[in-house]
Amino acid sequence: MAWQVVIAGGGFGGFYAARALERLLPSQSAHVTLVNEANFLLYTPLLPGAAGATLDPRHVVVPLRSQLRCTDLVIGRVTGARPADGILGVHRVDGEEIEIRYDQLIVALGSVSRTLPIPGLAEHATGLKSLSDATALRNQLLTCLDIAESLEDPARRAEYLGFVFVGAGYAGVEGLAELQDFAVQAIQMYPRCRAQGMRWVLVEARERIMQEVPASLSRFAEHELRGRGIEVRTATTLGEVTERDATLAGGERIPARTVVWTAGVKPSPVVANLGLPLDQEGRLVVEPTMRVQQDPGASAGVWAIGDCAAVPDASRPGRSCPPTAQHAIRQGRLVARNVAATLGGGRTRPFRYKTKGVVAELGHNKAVAITLGIRWRGFPAWLIARTYHLLLMPGFGRRLRLLVDWNVALLFGRDSSAPGRLGSPTPLGEE
Ligand SMILES: Cc1cc2nc3c(=O)[nH]c(=O)nc-3n(C[C@H](O)[C@H](O)[C@H](O)COP(=O)(O)OP(=O)(O)OC[C@H]3O[C@@H](n4cnc5c(N)ncnc54)[C@H](O)[C@@H]3O)c2cc1C
Repeated sequence: MAWQVVIAGGGFGGFYAARALERLLPSQSAHVTLVNEANFLLYTPLLPGAAGATLDPRHVVVPLRSQLRCTDLVIGRVTGARPADGILGVHRVDGEEIEIRYDQLIVALGSVSRTLPIPGLAEHATGLKSLSDATALRNQLLTCLDIAESLEDPARRAEYLGFVFVGAGYAGVEGLAELQDFAVQAIQMYPRCRAQGMRWVLVEARERIMQEVPASLSRFAEHELRGRGIEVRTATTLGEVTERDATLAGGERIPARTVVWTAGVKPSPVVANLGLPLDQEGRLVVEPTMRVQQDPGASAGVWAIGDCAAVPDASRPGRSCPPTAQHAIRQGRLVARNVAATLGGGRTRPFRYKTKGVVAELGHNKAVAITLGIRWRGFPAWLIARTYHLLLMPGFGRRLRLLVDWNVALLFGRDSSAPGRLGSPTPLGEE
């Protein structure tokens, strides 16, 4: 009977694991199943581009069926597992609860926004983690401009022209930079708003923005943002959010109808239901080979990769790998080899990877980047960032879509329509 290899999660880690398993395992000896909530891989580094309207939201995803030839795709939500029996529980898209048996399970369920118990945060702030977050942000920006333009009172208008981002990692900085870039273009069509001006604030609890890059590049990014009139508040935290404003820990009140929370991630909560060992941060504890240590009685093997796993970082002893796509992709490829080696009686290998580079776009055709130790900034870094994403995006057709979107936005500006209810049909009889 064929081995059952099941992958939970079809993001960067799970998708690359599936692709590698298709090459490594003969189809007559193993059957690979991928369970994912959506039928696509979300290319998260391009989410700020979708929010900032340089990219069509559909172009920052990769349909899984178009890239996986012989993997069985189950669309549904993983709900739990019984590791002793080798069973994964899934709530399938048609509403049915099913159990999938596995001999080898790869957990790649990613992460969710890490929120804090700040009054009003959950009710009034938005994240930037999903395609709907990016689309909602773009619509929110345009709706705010439309409302502000219709208001007589400048104080009320200021609320709609205030935008606060909390958390200055690459998601926060890229998200704010792209959205502000878009707003600067869009506001030209709103005379009242243009006369009053917008307020953009980036709040970061640590001493500097973008801890992922060296201090010199972080200073460049901060200088660049400040040069565009963006207020950068480092060593500052958020105290409270209401529908109309954000209050910083020092008591300063910023009128803003848009507050975006990009202050870190935590493992997908469902990993706590898998009956597997977790570390203090809720990540699955794994050996350097990415295998999860289980009770000696367990007959099936379990592996964990990506943002939901604490994979020991060989380049920083005593620490775990950071939650990045470049780590998840490489872990996905290696875990596939380790699973194949385990099934074939071969030797597994530990994960070793040292970050080779970082790219972060800052809007205005500028970016910061490090490639093989060389630091880039400004326009050359922007070219590197776009080339990097073009090369990494799976599939020629998907690359072409990016290229076309980027060039159309460069030549004709960004599309400033706000199709707020796209995807939610009007109930019949209510038109
Ligand atoms: C805005 C933004 C920008 C980023 N930019 C960069 C960057 O420039 N460079 C970089 O290296 N990293 C970047 N990252 C980080 C990167 O996205 C993550 O580190 C990477 O996606 C982790 O891969 P993963 O496979 O662990 O998780 P994911 O790619 O998130 O995949 C997890 C998958 O599991 C699915 N899933 C979750 N729960 C369930 C469930 N219960 N049942 C079924 N399926 C489920 C999800 O739908 C998803 O498809 C960025 C992240 C964000 C949010």
